Amino acid sequence: QEKVNLEARSPDDLRCPIVVIMGHVDTGKTKLLDKIRKTNVQEGEAGGITQQIGATFFEKKTLEAQTAKLNVTEKFDFKVPGMLVIDTPGHESFTNLRSRGSSLCDVAILVVDLMHGLEQQTIESLTMLRKRGVPFVIALNKVDRCYAWKTCKDTPIRDALKEQDEGTVSEFRSRATDAKVQLQEQGVNSNIYWEMGEDDWMNSDFVPLIPTSAVTGEGVQDVLMLLCQMAQRKIWKQLMWCANLQCTVLEVKAIDGLGMTVDVLVVNGHLREGDRAVFCTLNGPIVTEIRGLLTPPPSREMRVKSEYIHHKEVKGALGVKVIGNNLEKVMAGTPVMIVGPEDEEEDIKSEVMADLTKLEAKLSTD
Ligand code: GDP
Repeated sequence: QEKVNLEARSPDDLRCPIVVIMGHVDTGKTKLLDKIRKTNVQEGEAGGITQQIGATFFEKKTLEAQTAKLNVTEKFDFKVPGMLVIDTPGHESFTNLRSRGSSLCDVAILVVDLMHGLEQQTIESLTMLRKRGVPFVIALNKVDRCYAWKTCKDTPIRDALKEQDEGTVSEFRSRATDAKVQLQEQGVNSNIYWEMGEDDWMNSDFVPLIPTSAVTGEGVQDVLMLLCQMAQRKIWKQLMWCANLQCTVLEVKAIDGLGMTVDVLVVNGHLREGDRAVFCTLNGPIVTEIRGLLTPPPSREMRVKSEYIHHKEVKGALGVKVIGNNLEKVMAGTPVMIVGPEDEEEDIKSEVMADLTKLEAKLSTD
């Protein structure tokens, strides 16, 4: 039997970038995701889910469709198979979840309320992202609140700005400059993205600013486009898919009819039904068989109850709900491993615990 090279990677086989969305509470993170998903989690189910890390998978065809109006000249070729967006709670008491989110992602969107400028959790998020060297864009959200803004639904932001009166543009300019100055005070160089060359954000630490409205959709195309460009041009090496399983627990929770389930983030590799998985609990490692692998449909939030899709096998990067026995004490934020046919269960158990110790050391330096 031919031996599979687990480390083999190719620039033609990229995984989805994992995008974390961060920002102060009420800046419009949920609304922005709703706009891309075409859902209404913000008004409907937000109450219960804002204390967990969420995950939404967007297919490549969704990204293509949602950037169509922008992607006309020098057509950008989407090589990523989609995008997995992780949503972190903005409330101040959830620093640990934001820290975990920023440690799991490849790129990030930092949402700033254009009307309020930088706020406490904006600054906290900035610190986390920069410390980890995560490339990110800043959405200057609620641009529609500028005086006498004329709605240009779901339009690329430059086209929308062309439709505005001089006074509106000048208010926008002045607020954007304020944000830029505040960012500068935090040691972050930034600029309106079309006023800098691609080279600036590719080869330097300049952060692109993208004005958006999560309510009427101006600039949302621009955010998706820039994130994909950043992923493919700046960090494609880290996105080359690898068969070695890299998997982390996001949440542990009971679901009606399914019992205790564990939401995991599969970054690389596969998970398969029937796999013997090793999880970390407060009482040490446990081994359990994966009895089911569920995901919400594409463009649907994993935290919101939906018609789950059952999978025999999933491939990273993806957010997946795992069903199995004895999952009650599994700890969020811990690594997951699979006992392969040639592995000793005890070896894998110690490996998982060693990984956990490393991870804790890394997070405790925040
Ligand atoms: P989160 O806490 O960052 O997830 O913020 P939400 O998405 O829950 O939004 C907070 C409030 O701001 C809600 O009332 C939204 O309707 C409103 N909001 C969010 N984005 C925009 C926007 O672009 N324009 C306007 N006018 N309101 C917005």
